[in-house]
Amino acid sequence: MASEDKREELHVLLVAFSAQGHINPMLRLGKSLLTKGLHVTLATTELVYHRVFKPSTATDDDTVPTSITTNGIQVLFFSDGFGSSLKITSADEYMELIGKLGPLSLSSAIKTHFLDTSKKLACIINNPFVPWVADVAASFKIPCACLWIQPCALYAIYYRFYNNLDQFPTLQNPNMSVHLPGLPSLQPRDLPSFLLPSNPFGSFPKVLSEMFQHMKKLKWVLANSFHELEKEVIDSMANICPIRTVGPLVPPSLLGQDQSEDIGIEMWKPQDSCMEWLDHQPRSSVIYISFGSLIVLTAKQLESIASALKRSNRPFLWVIKPKEKDDILPLPQGFVEETKEQGMVVPWCPQTKVLVHPAIACFMTHCGWNSMLEAITAGTPMIGYPQWTDQPTNAKLISDVFGLGIRLEQDGEGFVGTEEVERAIEEMVVGPRAEEFRRKASELKRAAREAVADCGSSERNIQSFVDEIVGTSD
Ligand code: UDP
Repeated sequence: MASEDKREELHVLLVAFSAQGHINPMLRLGKSLLTKGLHVTLATTELVYHRVFKPSTATDDDTVPTSITTNGIQVLFFSDGFGSSLKITSADEYMELIGKLGPLSLSSAIKTHFLDTSKKLACIINNPFVPWVADVAASFKIPCACLWIQPCALYAIYYRFYNNLDQFPTLQNPNMSVHLPGLPSLQPRDLPSFLLPSNPFGSFPKVLSEMFQHMKKLKWVLANSFHELEKEVIDSMANICPIRTVGPLVPPSLLGQDQSEDIGIEMWKPQDSCMEWLDHQPRSSVIYISFGSLIVLTAKQLESIASALKRSNRPFLWVIKPKEKDDILPLPQGFVEETKEQGMVVPWCPQTKVLVHPAIACFMTHCGWNSMLEAITAGTPMIGYPQWTDQPTNAKLISDVFGLGIRLEQDGEGFVGTEEVERAIEEMVVGPRAEEFRRKASELKRAAREAVADCGSSERNIQSFVDEIVGTSD
């Protein structure tokens, strides 16, 4: 059978953890596979059903449907304990519960939707926080791929750490620097927080270590990055455990493409009025600040940023996502009132639209990889204020590898003083370094667009991945 014909019948199942930043890159990869003629299904958790897909008319007692369809992609839900009588009080407990309930529930969904039908499931793609999916795939003899959703640099660091290929800090030698191929020398403050000897426990390091110790179960490792951005480190892994870049998997509008082609979910409703406010600000003047969906800054951290913003007297758009919906923000008293002519504080904004707005000068970020890729594709320089997990390393990439901005100097507790924030803002907005960051940002913006265009590096990698899926499905 000609491969074009065969492709018509082949299905790919994407399996994603319950986070917007995990599901959206997966869906965008799915969209590319769809346009190349494969059938695509997403499986995610019941929590996502409740937060995103549940109709407003449904009651809590209504059962989760076995599948729904969104933007031409079928979505299945597997059990994570959400909505059951089990009380989940921490991220660690949630991770454990998914690991316990997920495999059986996903296996049964695969049987019902694929194996008991005439559909041919040719490949399963998972992401890092559901490493057990590789075992489910193996039990059905279906080839498995992983979509790595952090920089390739992090993939290389974790791989080398979990496979004992290099020396990393230990309790006996906590201050040593780490030298890895394709990366600048890394101090402990530049390493992912999970690898620090003071912090090796918890469910997140556990699932990462499981994944990296069982890489052999994966036939392909794909990455939400692009070759031109991380060439040295990608090449350094080529003979060890290659990673294939297929990104940036960001909304098409950021890549100069038709936005109506986008596919993605929104777990929180953005406050769109900030766009109108941006329309009234001078070009390249606004400091955009966001710490993503999970980080909750302390009152002390918020206070130092607030004072720096006031002293800089520059326009700002600041996203502060409250821990719970109606929580009062622990901002200094009177701050919002006193700065209402200068800036805007919102609980959530349409970030990808904000980043491309001509009024934006720079982005103070916690260095989550989705935010960074969005800024790179928008051509926006960054100030890195990392907190945990991959963020410290990502901040190092911003300053010392990509040349896209600066990392704030933090004290031992991760705190940054007002003067440091103020200094960074000035340096990003005026002067020769600001010019240089802007020049580098436009260069990488162009490179990102080229990577996903016809014959670009990521486009070619997706095509070869599809060809291999088709080839191995004989
Ligand atoms: N985001 C958004 N509005 C906001 C802040 C963030 O839409 O006000 C989106 C942002 O565009 C990105 C995601 O939330 O896609 C954050 O992902 P990231 O990996 O940067 O950080 P995480 O939330 O996982 O820590």
